[in-house]
Amino acid sequence: MKILITLLFSCVLVLSIMLLSSSNNIKNQLLDAIATVSKESETPRDKLLGGLLTSDFDEGSCFSRYHKSLLYRQPSPYKPSEYLVSKLRSYEVLHKRCGPDTKAYKEATENLVRDENYAQGNSVGECRYIVWIAGYGLGNRMLTIASAFLYALLTERIILVDNRKDVSDILCEPFPATSWLLPLDFPLMNGTYRFDKGYSRCYGTMLNNHAINSTSIPQHLYLHNLHDSRDEDKMFVCEKDQGLINKVPWLIIQANVYFVPSLWFNPTFRLELMKLFPQKDTVFHLLSRYLFHPTNQVWGMVTRYYHAHLSRADETLGIQIRVFRKNAGYFQHVMDQIVGCTQREKLLPELATQEAPQVNASSVTKVKAVLVTSLYPEYSDNLKSMFWERPSSTGEVVEVNQPSGERFQQTDKKLHDQKALAEIYLLSLTDKIVTSARSTFGYVAYSIGGLKPWLLYQPRDLTTPDPPCVRSTSMEPCYLTPPSHGCEADWGKNSGEIFPFVKHCDDLVDDGLSLYDEL
Ligand code: GDP
Repeated sequence: MKILITLLFSCVLVLSIMLLSSSNNIKNQLLDAIATVSKESETPRDKLLGGLLTSDFDEGSCFSRYHKSLLYRQPSPYKPSEYLVSKLRSYEVLHKRCGPDTKAYKEATENLVRDENYAQGNSVGECRYIVWIAGYGLGNRMLTIASAFLYALLTERIILVDNRKDVSDILCEPFPATSWLLPLDFPLMNGTYRFDKGYSRCYGTMLNNHAINSTSIPQHLYLHNLHDSRDEDKMFVCEKDQGLINKVPWLIIQANVYFVPSLWFNPTFRLELMKLFPQKDTVFHLLSRYLFHPTNQVWGMVTRYYHAHLSRADETLGIQIRVFRKNAGYFQHVMDQIVGCTQREKLLPELATQEAPQVNASSVTKVKAVLVTSLYPEYSDNLKSMFWERPSSTGEVVEVNQPSGERFQQTDKKLHDQKALAEIYLLSLTDKIVTSARSTFGYVAYSIGGLKPWLLYQPRDLTTPDPPCVRSTSMEPCYLTPPSHGCEADWGKNSGEIFPFVKHCDDLVDDGLSLYDEL
C-alpha cells in the first residue's frame, strides 16, 4: 500500500513538472523530491546487511543476495562489527589476487605438482590456500565451509571449495570479481589421492609418526576433522601447530563438524575473534549471511513457498524433525515428543476439550502457520489432522504445511539438495523454531535466522525423552565431536570448562562444544 501511494505521488509530481513547470529551478527541486521519495520506498531494509555485503554484484544473477533481507519479518538485531566488515573487505582483495585464473594461483599449483619441501626460512609466496572437500549432508557442508572460511580469515589464506559435486547449483559466488570454486583440474583432485587418516600427508598421522618438523615443510597438508579424528587432528588450531602449518602453502581440509569453538583455544586467534565477534554467539549467523546466497532456482522455491504459506500468518513456527536411526521413519514416540514439546513450551495451543462454536472471520484470534521439515511426511500429516479435527483451546487457527518428504537422504542429487537448501532458508524465516538435537540441518537453519531454538532431545530406546526439549541459550551450532581438552596451557582440562563462553552444547549432555555470549 505504502509503495502504491508513493508511486501515485511520484506520477502526480511528474505530471505537474511536465504541465506546469516553466522554471528549471522548480523542475530540479521537484525531481530531487521524487528521487528522495522513490529511494526511501526502494530501500525499506538494509540490503547490504549492515556492511556484510558490498553492492558489486549484478542483482539478477543471484536475487537472494540482496533480496534476502526483504523476507525476514524483522531486520537482524545482530550487526557485524566494523572490524569484521574491514576484515571481509581485505579478504576479498586477497581472494581476487590469489583466486583461480590468477598468476599467483598458477604458480602455486605448479609448485604443488613439483611437491618440493620448503626448508625453514624459505618464503611460501604471497598466496596460501585452504581447499574444502565436499562430503556428508548439506548442513555439515555449510558448517564446515563457514569454519574453514573463518580459519582462512584468521590466517590470511583464501578458501577454495570443491565443486565436483553440486555447490554451484545451490549457492552463488560470495566474493566479488573472482571465484571460490576450485578449478576442476586441480592436481590433487584427480582421483589418485585418498584423503583419510591413512593419507601420508594427514597432519595428525604425520605428528604421530614424527614425520613433520620445521626444517622440512611440505607443499600441502591434509587436515582431517571427521567423526574418526583423533585429538592430534582436531588440535591443528593450537599455537604450536600453527607455527608450522602457517608455512604450508596448501591445506586440504575434510570435515563434517563445526570446529569454530576450538579456534578460541588459540590465544592469538582468540584476541582476533573477540574483535571480530564482540557478541560471541553470532559467528555462524553473520558468516552464513555473508557466505551463503541460494541460487535463483533455490530462491524461487523459497519465495514461492513463503508467500503461499507463511507471509500472511500472524505468527510462524518452524519444526525440523530428523530421526537418527537405522530404518528411520515415523515413530509414535517422536510424534509424542513434538506435541509434548510444543505444548509444554506454549509454541502451539492445546486442543479444546469441547467443540467450539463455528469459527467465523471475527472469531479467529490469530492464524499460526507451522512449517514442518522432515524426510517423512507423516509427522506433519498428523499435526495437520490434529488441528483440523479439533479446535484449539485459544481460538487460534493452526495451519500446518511441509514442503517436501523425500523419504531418504540423496545428497549430491541436484533437485534434492536444492529442496534441502530451500527448506533450511524457509525454517530460518520463521519466528520461533524447534529443531532436532545433533542435526546440522537444524543448526544451520536456526543460526541463519538468528533464532535461539527449542532443541528436541535425542530419544533413546524408543521412548519420548522427559523433558522432551530444552530452550537453547545460544544461536550457535554445536561442534559435535570436539577435542577432549584445550591447547598447551589448558592441556588435560575438559574442553567445555576452559572458557565460560565455550561450553558443552544444550542438546547434548556434557558433550559437544558451542559458543555462548558470556564473558
Ligand atoms: P544432519 O544429517 O541432520 O546433520 O543434516 P545434513 O544436512 O548434514 O544431512 C541430512 C541430509 O538429508 C540433508 O542435507 C538433506 O539432503 C536430507 N534431509 C534431512 N532432513 C531433511 C528435511 O527436513 N528436508 C529435506 N528436503 N531434506 C532433508
